[in-house]
Amino acid sequence: MGDSSCEEECDYLFKAVLVGDSGVGKSNLLSRLDSKPTIGVEFAYRNIRVGDKLIKSQIWDTAGQERFRAITSSYYRGALGALLVYDITRRSSFENVTKWLYEIREFGSSDMVIVLVGNKSDLGHSREVSEEEGRSLAELESLCFMETSALENIHVEAVFLAMVTKIHQIVSQKSL
Ligand code: GDP
Repeated sequence: MGDSSCEEECDYLFKAVLVGDSGVGKSNLLSRLDSKPTIGVEFAYRNIRVGDKLIKSQIWDTAGQERFRAITSSYYRGALGALLVYDITRRSSFENVTKWLYEIREFGSSDMVIVLVGNKSDLGHSREVSEEEGRSLAELESLCFMETSALENIHVEAVFLAMVTKIHQIVSQKSL
């Protein structure tokens, strides 16, 4: 049950994308996942073990494209997961979540696993969006939810694991 594009000994290869306003911390989250962070990198790989399966995830970053133009459908093509990131200290980035969701749902596959990520949780003193608001929106839109700090590496691993585990569930149900 392997993926033919798995070069190493992994059982699955998943593509996932990072989405959200510029400045919310997407590239910092990505660099946390990569063992060798690189400036200007457009995607990172991360191997994760779920049960007895080794899953290789390829995580794509917009690499600043969101500043200049709409992200095209090719960005979403083949993606099974999305981390939709906002900044808990910037209300406008939270308000734009619905805009990003609309885009993900327009271009992405209908069963894409979407995790809503409230980043910069280390900046509690400048918080503009409560954790409760994030959780409520996630419930309303049927998304997973977690707050992270890419700076202090809090819950980054957990967000990732939650997404990959859910994707794995969906993929294995489909292949039954
Ligand atoms: P992107 O445009 O979404 O890729 O955002 P970046 O990863 O470039 O981050 C934008 C700015 O926010 C940078 O100055 C980062 O150092 C800062 N930043 C990112 N994540 C965090 C975080 O968790 N906490 C804090 N305090 N700053 C962060």
